[in-house]
Amino acid sequence: MKRKLLSLLVLMAATQLGAQAAGVTDAMIENDAKTPGDVLSWGLGPQGQRHSTLAQVNAKTIKNLVPVWSMSFGGEKQRGQQSQPLIHEGKMYVTASYSRLFAVDAKTGQKLWKYEHRLPEGIMPCCDVINRGAAIYGNLVIFGTLDAQLVALDKDSGKVVWREKIDDYKAGYSYTAAPLIAEGLLLTGVSGGEFGVVGRVEARDPMSGKLVWVRPMVEGHMGYRYDAEGKAVETGVSGTTNATWPGEMWKTGGAATWLGGTYDPKTRLAYFGTGNPGPWNSHLRKGDNLYSASTVALDVKSGQIKWHYQTTPNDGWDFDGVNEFVTFDMGGKRMGAKADRNGFFYVIDAENGKLQNAFPFVTKVTWAKGIDKATGRPDFVAEGRPGDPTAGDGKKGQDVFAAPSFLGGKNQMPMAYSPQTGLFYVPANEWGMDIWNEPVTYKKGAAYLGAGFTIKPLYEDYIGALRAVDPRTGKIAWEVKNSAPLWGGVLTTAGNLVFWGTPEGYLKAADAKTGKVVWQFQTGSGIVAPPVTWEQDGEQYVSVVSGWGGAVPLWGGEVAKKVNFLEQGGSIWVFKLHKG
Ligand code: CA
Ligand code: CA
Repeated sequence: MKRKLLSLLVLMAATQLGAQAAGVTDAMIENDAKTPGDVLSWGLGPQGQRHSTLAQVNAKTIKNLVPVWSMSFGGEKQRGQQSQPLIHEGKMYVTASYSRLFAVDAKTGQKLWKYEHRLPEGIMPCCDVINRGAAIYGNLVIFGTLDAQLVALDKDSGKVVWREKIDDYKAGYSYTAAPLIAEGLLLTGVSGGEFGVVGRVEARDPMSGKLVWVRPMVEGHMGYRYDAEGKAVETGVSGTTNATWPGEMWKTGGAATWLGGTYDPKTRLAYFGTGNPGPWNSHLRKGDNLYSASTVALDVKSGQIKWHYQTTPNDGWDFDGVNEFVTFDMGGKRMGAKADRNGFFYVIDAENGKLQNAFPFVTKVTWAKGIDKATGRPDFVAEGRPGDPTAGDGKKGQDVFAAPSFLGGKNQMPMAYSPQTGLFYVPANEWGMDIWNEPVTYKKGAAYLGAGFTIKPLYEDYIGALRAVDPRTGKIAWEVKNSAPLWGGVLTTAGNLVFWGTPEGYLKAADAKTGKVVWQFQTGSGIVAPPVTWEQDGEQYVSVVSGWGGAVPLWGGEVAKKVNFLEQGGSIWVFKLHKG
């Protein structure tokens, strides 16, 4: 009897300890979208819908939405701020440029701790020194760095718990996405698609950082799982070597998984988008070049590819297929939607990868006439492809004007889906490019493009357009145009609102059904990050990071002239309703 009582006490103590040590759990992350008191994942739920059930802030009350606090990220170096904050137990965890992470009291804005990663000289981020956010799990907050490392910090003290190298930054690898937590694993990709890296998805034990499996995204490369001693065990080649790649080209094939992934607790699949095949000159790699420019569905436990859907086979325009795959219910089925860089919006069966619907979400697409719904393949326009240099003088191929530009009909800025309106809210851009091919050979750590380009706006009065897209019909329900290209993400709420930021510095809100802009606030620098919302002590808060930068001012060609007056600066803003 005594022994029984003792063991019960031990069990109770252990359970309590377990509960404490557990902190953020898988169940909490899977349910994130339904728990408005916190934001535990990139996408306000691993499905990435970016929809909140909160309705305190709505079209009627939003006139009283005012700033509560703002905090500067400081530092001499500013640049682009693309982070989505996480909120847990009244604390905000937000990353900043140059691989920094801040913990802040979400109510008062008081800084609790800061981690500043020591970056080596010679990092090679293609598209600014940005970071898109952290993951939270157990007692850890975990993020990736520009020198291709993962760092896990104690969420309360900010102390480093583990640090692991993903790959060699000198070969062009870096890390910018928010890591994904699914089924007790930390899932990450790689950045570096312009340097001939090999794109892949990796799973780690989030508590220790130890590798569990690796699945390459370029056909021909071997996958591995790791045993308890950390020894690599082969789990089969991705695809079939040389089935879709000529010669040795697959060895430096790109397909970088630089925007991370989403996860659907219903299908139990993780969805990762893959970037352009390397190099950009498509004539050097005749074939589909799997699994570049695709959505790849992975079994989380084993890392095996369950299905793939390639949006741009044999890509010749840098149409990275990395954009987020957002799962939702349509016609009684679990679907996934993706607004691709290539200008088409895809609705795909999330269970098996079968195409359900595809339509353009931008006004001009030059490279394909449409997507064949039976085969799922694009109907290519032959003369829309930049020419082969070896067909002429060997130095420069025939140039073409292509739309969208390589910065895409949509780029890294995540869209939102409202189950109430049934609409996706897509931050789209209207631009094209002159593009031509050149010869290129792979050299470690050097840009691996074999192409030249100049980006150009399509219209005088706007480039950006926030579009409400009906996934069933392909109709645009409404749009709000923007002079500069949109580069932040979108949030939608049960208050029938859509929030998004502009490079001109405004956080805006519109009626989710009509697109009527009902509120805006000037944050002092350009917004290129997605907003979030949560509830604390009975009040709804809205927050967004401000700080102009990213790929547009670096690569925008003639578009850069349209945005060169914008000022840099890095800060986080938080808003709530003013009580009269
Ligand atoms: Ca939540
Ligand atoms: Ca790319």
